[in-house]
Amino acid sequence: MFREVVLGLGNNSVVSGVVKRYGMQMGAARFVAGASLESAIQVTRDLNRRGIAVTLDHLGEAVKDEGEALAAKDSYLTILQEIQTSAVNANVSLKLTMMGLALSMDLARANLMAVVKQASDFNNFVRIDMEDSPYTAITIGLFEEVWRAFPGHVGLVLQAYLYRTQEDLSRLSVPPKNFRIVKGAYREPVAVAFPSKPDVDDNYVALVRQSLELGNVTAIATHDEMIIGRVLKYLRQNNIPKEQFEFQMLYGVKLAVLEQLAKEGYRTRVYVPYGQDWYAYYVRRIAERPSNLLFFARALIDR
Ligand SMILES: Cc1cc2nc3c(=O)[nH]c(=O)nc-3n(C[C@H](O)[C@H](O)[C@H](O)COP(=O)(O)OP(=O)(O)OC[C@H]3O[C@@H](n4cnc5c(N)ncnc54)[C@H](O)[C@@H]3O)c2cc1C
Repeated sequence: MFREVVLGLGNNSVVSGVVKRYGMQMGAARFVAGASLESAIQVTRDLNRRGIAVTLDHLGEAVKDEGEALAAKDSYLTILQEIQTSAVNANVSLKLTMMGLALSMDLARANLMAVVKQASDFNNFVRIDMEDSPYTAITIGLFEEVWRAFPGHVGLVLQAYLYRTQEDLSRLSVPPKNFRIVKGAYREPVAVAFPSKPDVDDNYVALVRQSLELGNVTAIATHDEMIIGRVLKYLRQNNIPKEQFEFQMLYGVKLAVLEQLAKEGYRTRVYVPYGQDWYAYYVRRIAERPSNLLFFARALIDR
């Protein structure tokens, strides 16, 4: 309920005006690694020193025209080049609407292909984030096309709150691929998504097991310590090799837990977003936790 309200309010123009104006000083900086690639690389180096890999996300979604989509593609080519030059342990995550998906499928496909080709040339990897449900099928379709061209260099996010995901996962896993399992961060109707948290949580654990049993490399992307405990038990009982999975968390959330997992010898990765276009990302982070909104509101009142 809280989540629905915040995600709804995020579309309100008055609210967005206030948050865009004051958000960075009042909490967004916790979740965003600065405005520039340089600052994100600095954060990456620091995380690498703690034994944690990174996935870099240049913030932005739903670009308005072809020029913006091409610029977004170019920014990812630059990130991959910079990862190569600075020899940090990082790959990239991107959103297809930033590559122009809401404008034209051909445009998004061409931009995605260019970025994944560059990743393949550098023996690196691109993760396609999953956005809201109108884009699910088309995102899966583009992922499959690009995977056929560059297997091993592209992976997809699948969301546990969607009823369809177990079926998508079984179909997509022939042959096995690389998936990140998340709960899902958008406002979705009950026609497509489980409305209750316990159902999402159970489906999350079921999907992680399904993904591993089907032979996929699987990113377990959650901050939910109860779920991490359930998954660890399953991993140990079934002797799943450590190369087949990694734990992932968002920048600014529960780093100590991830660090502990890294110390125990598990592969770990932090999702590090950077850039000017942080608003939509920040609203989703607030929606995930009531105390994030209280923190923001208190800071606003104190001004
Ligand atoms: C690496 C990564 C990539 C992701 N990519 C996508 C994607 O492509 N598409 C998509 O829809 N979603 C994505 N998400 C977001 C995901 O769907 C969830 O919205 C988010 O992870 C919160 O769910 P949770 O699994 O942590 O569980 P929750 O039940 O929401 O949270 C469990 C606990 O974690 C802590 N926590 C969670 N979120 C926050 C927060 N924002 N601030 C402070 N504490 C918090 C709280 O202690 C909370 O009680 C991604 C998440 C991660 C970690």
